[in-house]
Amino acid sequence: MRFHIITIFPEAFDSYLKESIIGRAIEAKKIKVLFYNPLSYCKPKERVDGRPYGGGPGMVLRPEVFIKSIEKALAKIAKSFPRSLEGGQPDHRKTSVNLRKVKIINFSPSGKKFDTAYAKTSAKKYTDIIMISGRYEGIDARVNKIFKAEDISIGDYVLTGGELPAMVLLDSISRQIPGVLGTYESLEEERISSSEVYTRPEILKYKNKNYKVPKVLLSGNHKLIEEWKNKTKE
Ligand code: SAH
Repeated sequence: MRFHIITIFPEAFDSYLKESIIGRAIEAKKIKVLFYNPLSYCKPKERVDGRPYGGGPGMVLRPEVFIKSIEKALAKIAKSFPRSLEGGQPDHRKTSVNLRKVKIINFSPSGKKFDTAYAKTSAKKYTDIIMISGRYEGIDARVNKIFKAEDISIGDYVLTGGELPAMVLLDSISRQIPGVLGTYESLEEERISSSEVYTRPEILKYKNKNYKVPKVLLSGNHKLIEEWKNKTKE
């Protein structure tokens, strides 16, 4: 799976992508993350944002530089799908890549709510996901119309930018890709996962009080343990 991220703040991703499971998935080439910065398409002294038509506070990200960034991502994808090109010409303006396997996502607090089911489907269905991260008041709405991007929300709150949502999707979709989680962790995934988990010590002392691990988890009785996990399911 390749994630193509359109953002004016690519450095915001640096440390997260290096760590733990996602870091290892990139190293093992299970996933690939590519960045496209609309700022690099601004002419010298040209701004990436403009005042909103109809008034109001906040700035709107200009469409042209986002269009160029998305086209660049599509061209990159087209190169890797040579046989799906119409007439053999890499005309990405017609977005002639195999669109059934490419998803374009735009982030918006009022979009369709992202969940595990969406992550699972995406991991199976797509080879490439383009994610467009907005800032300020968002991106000129014509970008969405041109590329038929789907508006996705990660929750009912407003963030300052689409970088965190892009990381949320990248993380959640990646762990659905075979081989990204270790064998042990993926086995865990198929089992009932509880929101209440415990490790050593069996009795934790804190301010003169004892906090014990629920007895059932020490019982070795798998049936009872599964029942308990079901009750505390995520
Ligand atoms: N004026 C916009 C909010 C812009 S917030 C509106 O009312 O819809 C700036 C950017 O942050 C958005 O373009 C989007 O990319 C991102 N964003 C903020 N909250 C989000 C959420 N809950 N889910 C997904 N993206 C979000």
